[in-house]
Amino acid sequence: MSSDLVIVYHRQPYEEVEVDGRTIYRENKSPNGIVPTLKSFFGRVDHGAWVAWKLAEDPANPGFEPVVEIEDAFGRYSVARLPLTEHQVREFYHVTSKEAFWPILHGFKDRYNYDPVDWPNFREVNWRFAEAAAAEAAPGAVVWIHDYNLWLVPGYLRQMRKDVHIAFFHHTPFPSVDVFNVLPWRREIVESLLACDEVGFHIPRYAANFVSVARSLTDAEVTERRRVPPDMIAEGTALTERSVPTRLSYKNRNIRLQVAPVGVDVDHIETRARLPETEAHARQIRESLDGAQLILSVGRTDYTKGGVDQLQSLERVLEARPEMIGKVRLMHVSVSANRNMTAYENVQSEIEQTAGRINGRFGTLDWQPIALISRAIPFDELVAYYRAADVAWITPLADGMNLVAKEFVAARVDEDGAVVLSEFAGAAVEMQEAVITNPFSNRSMDQAILTALSMAPEGRLGRMRALRAAVARNDIRLWARNVIAGPEKSPGSSVTPPTDQAA
Ligand code: UDP
Repeated sequence: MSSDLVIVYHRQPYEEVEVDGRTIYRENKSPNGIVPTLKSFFGRVDHGAWVAWKLAEDPANPGFEPVVEIEDAFGRYSVARLPLTEHQVREFYHVTSKEAFWPILHGFKDRYNYDPVDWPNFREVNWRFAEAAAAEAAPGAVVWIHDYNLWLVPGYLRQMRKDVHIAFFHHTPFPSVDVFNVLPWRREIVESLLACDEVGFHIPRYAANFVSVARSLTDAEVTERRRVPPDMIAEGTALTERSVPTRLSYKNRNIRLQVAPVGVDVDHIETRARLPETEAHARQIRESLDGAQLILSVGRTDYTKGGVDQLQSLERVLEARPEMIGKVRLMHVSVSANRNMTAYENVQSEIEQTAGRINGRFGTLDWQPIALISRAIPFDELVAYYRAADVAWITPLADGMNLVAKEFVAARVDEDGAVVLSEFAGAAVEMQEAVITNPFSNRSMDQAILTALSMAPEGRLGRMRALRAAVARNDIRLWARNVIAGPEKSPGSSVTPPTDQAA
């Protein structure tokens, strides 16, 4: 059955579990992931489709139905499962995407690894995603493609289907031109993105960077530019832009650039935060601290997250302020999402060594400055820690958005708690009342955590109120409304955050 909306995302939109020898499709456990938000778009159309990959020993004979029909709370939709071999997945996802693209997207040129990339395999996998999307799309359908590991899909799909409306959203940063152009496949990637009708980014800077890249490699011209609204201008911080290109013209086509910062499900998080069991758990956590202040740091184990730099900041602070020994604890949650990748294993062991050294230097039998957690904490439990912490310490070296910062704020129904946030996280342009820090400066890092720990209650409450208003304004529902405008015939259905024309 053909669909008016086709979502192309590398992961399947559910968890597959075997029950009594039968396959059951179960809702993904995490309510905050992007998957339920994307699925909610299916409620807007008669029939939707989702294209993802699924592991198969022999793609010609995968041993599963390539397309299954699902009907659930989100509507009726098909899921097309592209059979890929383990080798194809490793090459396309773990090697090309994670070893070559990921460091470039985040500005780490020195970590970029060209040698192992199997570009023909990347092309082939992207081609097959495009074929699957073309097969599902009704005439004039919207095809919405997600993230850099599918960069070549728009170009291929345009060759196959002139009629469809192609939208692409980047969930990561988009780097500046001199970083992006390290990729030898830069022109092929940009030509593919310019085959879209819309290209989406979290914040104006990423859209501006994309335009610089496109202009360096093609004859694309900016045809519209708008002023950035004040609630996305964090004065003087690294990622702030004051105006943003919103339309490009290329080869007689018009490409819209959308800026839509992804938010969190504020209602859901607030409900979880107010549950009596969450409050009881938060109380228990506080009691176990013995009067010490709790700093909470939560993220994936990734060199982009700056985990080691953060631990080193705590070490310097404890060295400079011995009176803080015993009075503060850091819960550092660093979850390994990409096991068996050398770059991530190295970061993990560096974090373990640094935390071990600091605990060894300052710890006693009853007090350790750092509790290092390397396993994922279930979301409900995490909310209890959000409620119990004095400070959320979020200092990535580069981060497309950072949802932990927004979740922490959404969970603070008591309007208390301080946030220290890196100016290199996309969220910093919206979360202007956080204590903004530069993770590349030791002085800025140390000063920021000291400021947050010693903030007077009135200051803390005032900032948290403003942060809560910002996070509630740009919550996940607004993102869902703004992120795709759809075909041109419905102007005004949605655009970038309201802006003044300033061409
Ligand atoms: N998360 C979690 N348990 C953990 C650590 C993280 O549930 O122990 C979730 C967290 O709530 C957030 C997501 O993982 O929703 C991380 O998103 P973020 O945007 O902060 O970082 P990303 O991993 O996407 O770079």
